[in-house]
Amino acid sequence: MIFRQCAPADPPRNCIWRYAGPPPPFAFSFAGLLYFVGRIMEVIFLGTGTSQGVPMIACDCAVCTSADPRNRRTRASIHVVMDGLHIQVDASPEFRLQCLRENVTQLDVFILTHGHNDHIAGMDDLRRFCDLHGGTALTVYTTGEGISRVQAMFPYAITERPVSKGYAAFKLVDMPPVLEFPQGTIHSTLLPHGGINTLGLVFTEKSSGRKFAYYSDCKQVPREAVALAQGAGVVVLDGLREEPHPTHMNIAEACVVAAEIGAPVSYLTHLTHRIGHEGWSAKLPHGVQLAYDGLRLKL
Ligand SMILES: [Zn+2]
Ligand SMILES: [Zn+2]
Ligand SMILES: [Zn+2]
Repeated sequence: MIFRQCAPADPPRNCIWRYAGPPPPFAFSFAGLLYFVGRIMEVIFLGTGTSQGVPMIACDCAVCTSADPRNRRTRASIHVVMDGLHIQVDASPEFRLQCLRENVTQLDVFILTHGHNDHIAGMDDLRRFCDLHGGTALTVYTTGEGISRVQAMFPYAITERPVSKGYAAFKLVDMPPVLEFPQGTIHSTLLPHGGINTLGLVFTEKSSGRKFAYYSDCKQVPREAVALAQGAGVVVLDGLREEPHPTHMNIAEACVVAAEIGAPVSYLTHLTHRIGHEGWSAKLPHGVQLAYDGLRLKL
């Protein structure tokens, strides 16, 4: 076993697995080789904010006026790189700016977790990736609700090829329970989110066996979803705010789910302007942290 899980006090805080063999051979180890050829699963938090974003328009609260960059949250979205396969989850209203900020230049698979505006509004900017794929339609994996929202918002893009060079084109596909790629698998499960369901996603990289779960926008995490996430090195959970909410888990509910799943580290996302990063980080239970825009995890 060349890796061990980091102890909670181990710097850096985002390290989940660490080489545990004799020092100092990381650069010459199998792990080091994987790292340097870019074959370790990476998760980039493009956005970690709730639907209004943080700061919120016309709000002078302590979080909205904070100088801490971790309190500036664009709408929730992640980018996962699994053995070189680039998977984009959701396209927020800031999707283009998020791609530029995080230097996202490749996108192979797109998954829309559900059709709410804060996850779908940036989809027109996927046009650039249709172009980079030679003017072909990008497959959009989503739920039935997601399919009807894309049809309503982007009717001009439901086509096999862009109607004009540089335009978006989408092929809409029902997300299956398991998507298999040479680089790994993506399992999906349904999470209750008010009147609709959100796709909960679990990524497993084939070469390393590393597992990562993303459960944003949900009021509950059903037993099957808890079971599906077992063994993940990192789990991301919807943890909106301190007060209860009818369609999202609050921080206390998310902490209960984090304990049920039992991952070494759980990150909370979809955060409102009521959650100041520094103050709340100190109050969270062991193993639970707040995500922030630009956070990168190498699993
Ligand atoms: Zn949302
Ligand atoms: Zn505010
Ligand atoms: Zn939502």
